Amino acid sequence: MLAATSKERTLGTVEHTAGGAILMDGKLVRDELIVQLAEQVAADGSPEVTLATVLVGDDKPSRVYVGSKRKKAVEAGLQSRHVELGADATQAEVQAAVAELAADDSVHGILVQLPLPDGLDAEAVLNLIPPEKDVDGLTERSMGRLVRGKPGHVPCTPLGVMRLLERYEIPTSGKKAVVIGRSTLVGLPQVLLLGRKGADATVTLAHSRTADLVSVCREADILVAAVGMARLITPDHVKPGAAVLDVGISRTEAGIVGDVDFDTVQEVAGAITPMPGGTGPMTIACLMQNTYAAYKMLNG
Ligand code: NAD
Repeated sequence: MLAATSKERTLGTVEHTAGGAILMDGKLVRDELIVQLAEQVAADGSPEVTLATVLVGDDKPSRVYVGSKRKKAVEAGLQSRHVELGADATQAEVQAAVAELAADDSVHGILVQLPLPDGLDAEAVLNLIPPEKDVDGLTERSMGRLVRGKPGHVPCTPLGVMRLLERYEIPTSGKKAVVIGRSTLVGLPQVLLLGRKGADATVTLAHSRTADLVSVCREADILVAAVGMARLITPDHVKPGAAVLDVGISRTEAGIVGDVDFDTVQEVAGAITPMPGGTGPMTIACLMQNTYAAYKMLNG
């Protein structure tokens, strides 16, 4: 048998797809990060660190997401507090609930599950969260800190993409990255994270008005798709050997489908995330890391 390559030795077990691409396994890395965090919390004397989740209305996927966030918080050695309001909650009621958590010293992180029901102004609600407790990193002040390179919380989904690249030792420095999608939730912060000092990629932002998406994507050593269009990315979009990270989620009759046509793209890519089981679990792991960072920020 051949000796393990240095990559295999440093990465531990790495699974490959049938086509030979590295499978960037978000569930596995999430579990590793949660275990590491639980160990760190214990080593720090098990302080009481609380993540508060706020769910408004009865959107089913939102309920599932909040449920897994609460479960993983407990696994990471954190406390979970949950506030739930009905679909008929008024703007004032939602704001009062968030303001109470913002003022409560025993709460370190606040997560308001989005989207809020129609008619509610999410921006006004998010802006009540102090930057230290903004573990989702979505408020104006957190985004401003990211742009200015100041310490603060970074949005969990693009941060999870960075953690996967680190974990699987995908080089970013000097590489070409293409991010598809320009939302403040994913695409824009992803561009900043890939391009900032330390990651040092050269980043192109593609979106719905990009001309010739195929050629733009084919330039990428790292391709991040955050669109929400089932199987938009085919092998034609992918430079052989590129790392392909799928953020998009489309709910189809066949179940959850990503932006990337996994079965065909894994034949061409050098590394690829599954969907589900790729970027989604990483979002939750990063939320837990941000919550512990929030505790540290609030306690000097
Ligand atoms: P969004 O709708 O705000 O943004 C989608 C972006 O895609 C837009 O910027 C748009 O310009 C671009 N776009 C639309 N059509 C396009 C096309 N044909 N070609 C190129 N670009 C196109 O969505 P979002 O909030 O950024 O989320 C994107 C996707 O990621 C959604 O499917 C969402 O459900 C999913 N998501 C996943 C996670 C996760 O943890 N995996 C977290 C958040 C969001």
